[in-house]
Amino acid sequence: MISENLKGLKCLRCGKEYSLKQARYLCTDEACGGNLEAVYDYARIERNANVIKNSREKGIYRYLPFLPFADTKLTPPLLVGGTPLVKSDKLSSRMGVELFFKDDTRNPSASFKDRAGAVAMTVAREDGLNRISCASTGNAGSSLACLAASVGMNCMIFVPEKAPPAKIAQLLLFGAKVFAVRGTYDEAFDLCAEVSSEINCFNRSTGLNPWTREGKKTVSFEIAEDMGWDVPDYVFVPVGDGNIISGVWKGFRELFYAGFTQRIPKLIAVQSKNSDSVHKTLEKYKGKDVSPKEIELVKVNATTIADSISVDLPRDGLAAVRAVRETDGFSVEISDDEILASIKEIASNTGLFPEPAGATAYAGLKKALEDRKVPLKSRIVCLVTGSGLKDINSALKVAGKPISVSTDKSETLKILSGK
Ligand SMILES: *Cc1c(COP(=O)(O)O)cnc(C)c1O
Ligand SMILES: [Zn+2]
Repeated sequence: MISENLKGLKCLRCGKEYSLKQARYLCTDEACGGNLEAVYDYARIERNANVIKNSREKGIYRYLPFLPFADTKLTPPLLVGGTPLVKSDKLSSRMGVELFFKDDTRNPSASFKDRAGAVAMTVAREDGLNRISCASTGNAGSSLACLAASVGMNCMIFVPEKAPPAKIAQLLLFGAKVFAVRGTYDEAFDLCAEVSSEINCFNRSTGLNPWTREGKKTVSFEIAEDMGWDVPDYVFVPVGDGNIISGVWKGFRELFYAGFTQRIPKLIAVQSKNSDSVHKTLEKYKGKDVSPKEIELVKVNATTIADSISVDLPRDGLAAVRAVRETDGFSVEISDDEILASIKEIASNTGLFPEPAGATAYAGLKKALEDRKVPLKSRIVCLVTGSGLKDINSALKVAGKPISVSTDKSETLKILSGK
């Protein structure tokens, strides 16, 4: 059942409003075609705030009044969200800030994407559909395949053929129909859209589908609740298509609209120099007073090693640009080497093990501190969006080598004594 709190959809580009019956994917105004955002009755949610504050539900369904469906009858049975917010005392004191990591490696398919897939898939099931598709750099697909397996839904995934093998293994094992496209993610995206519309399959692809953002925003609810319904000063977010950061923004806005929190944190978009469309677009419009309609994304030729954020033209890029501009945040770009080094630094200092994109937010924080863009003592959350086990080849580039020894203990003891 559709939530009574859900009022409709609104275009993030031109502001046109739609009833739930009218628009399924993008804004249908011909000159626009922007992405849509779900709108709720926030006063109504505020009146019933105790439903959330006293909820015994675990994971993302704690925040059901902010979700598009009225109950959890058709949600997947796996635990999505409810991930730990881990404070690192060691890195906090080293860096002079109060630093938390949001450990989203702990989702069923080991990435942040499960938040999106769980909500989008439930919307599809509420509509009585039994087929779902998605284009993906790897994680959105492996997540959707995982969740679809948990409810026995047909699932079709389009990935660029050079996606990391662990992600492809997940897709295949979960039983999805997997198309390895001889092309880029952007090309896989278009192919998925064309095929899905031809055969009337629910397309979860990022940007196109307004419901992924509804799942992704739950991370902000969890961060705020873990901080006693307060918010950090900054949230550092890795940005590819820009859907995560747009969800983070929406979550914090909604908490504010519904009276749960008193302010909205500054959002920092972190990108690789080798996939920096959102950063370039922010630079282009820096200090300029432009309406969302006037913003045109800069297209790049993405080559970053962080496959999950390798995107030529971000599918939710405008929302990402707005998230940064409208929270008074900024963007940071870093090298692939800095991303790889951050994998090791996070792992050895915190016990978390991120894939390259999952280490990117932290790499961006280091850069921002070097450039003095963040005051000392700030309270900061870095999102850790995907597990390092998904991309072992990247991890091995910075892991170092084990020490080879014979079975005779004297050799090991000699090494340990430093002689
Ligand atoms: C998808 C993904 C991102 C980026 O999210 P966007 O919505 O594409 O900006 C970051 N990290 C990981 C691990 C991801 O899978
Ligand atoms: Zn529009």
